[in-house]
Amino acid sequence: MPKISIIVPCYNEQESIPLFYAAVQKIYQDQIQVTWPQYQLEYWFIDDGSTDQTLSAMQTLAHTDSEHSHFVSFSRNFGKEAALYAGLQHATGDLIVVMDVDLQDPPELLPQMMSGILEEKYDIIGTKRLDRQGEPVIRSWFANGFYRLINHVSQTKLERGARDYRMMTRQVVDTILDLPEYNRFSKGIFSWVGFKTKYLGYENHDRVAGTTHWSTGDLINYAIDGIINFSDKPLAIAAFLGLTACGVSLLAMVFIVGRALIFGNPTTGWSSIVAIILMLGGLQLFCLGIVGKYIGKQYLETKHRPIYITKQEH
Ligand code: UDP
Ligand code: MG
Repeated sequence: MPKISIIVPCYNEQESIPLFYAAVQKIYQDQIQVTWPQYQLEYWFIDDGSTDQTLSAMQTLAHTDSEHSHFVSFSRNFGKEAALYAGLQHATGDLIVVMDVDLQDPPELLPQMMSGILEEKYDIIGTKRLDRQGEPVIRSWFANGFYRLINHVSQTKLERGARDYRMMTRQVVDTILDLPEYNRFSKGIFSWVGFKTKYLGYENHDRVAGTTHWSTGDLINYAIDGIINFSDKPLAIAAFLGLTACGVSLLAMVFIVGRALIFGNPTTGWSSIVAIILMLGGLQLFCLGIVGKYIGKQYLETKHRPIYITKQEH
């Protein structure tokens, strides 16, 4: 029998889990089962090292619906990317869906996603938010800037406003699982593997319960990670800045020597020298920082540490 796997990363989501399960079950019974009665549903809840009652909420579901509801519990918080990877590894379905537990990813789209794959023969049906309503203006501004920047510097194009919420065929998931990298930036990986993709748009929803786990600092780090993981342009920019600085200083030297020959050499201009030294020092540190970022990534990659550690699973 064909099966749909739903992968749900959860970090301190004790209130959201039962609401999420009820909402998805409703769509499944009212719509999916009516149109595609042969399709079974399985859930993979991933407890990403939660410190509240998230695990017991999962255990309750695994108890009441033991045939369809499964969970994996991590030994600590490994981050959403690790949780997604664990879910993809465990899922046994023919169609695999990744979605947030806070119902910001509307389950009402599931039937549309299924028909996109089964009837229109797409491999991936992704989703994107049409607006960023309810979000601080400055955050939207930075988010838009991020998409412009990454699409400019990277071969891997990211759809603006795209969410992780998507349905994929078995083939796509197997391809993603073949990428063993430690630094996982899912948005980029989903796009990098290619395949025929369609995006469904939807209006932004607020969380049903709990609060977001992303601070502004986290989002900035996430954006930097995305760029470093999918582009080596920053290295080229560093080299370019270095070369430009060399060129400018050569020109300046010619000018200064020429001026000294013509007008003599009065001791002026120490402040401009200090400014130039500071500027070049800053530039060097900045470029060193860029190079360091890549070395740091490589360092983590070569350790071959596991992406997550399971403490308990059902
Ligand atoms: N999440 C996770 N591990 C983390 C942070 C978040 O598994 O370290 C899960 C979280 O439980 C939720 C999803 O990732 O299901 C999205 O998180 P959140 O709603 O906080 O992000 P936002 O929607 O605000 O971008
Ligand atoms: Mg959310």
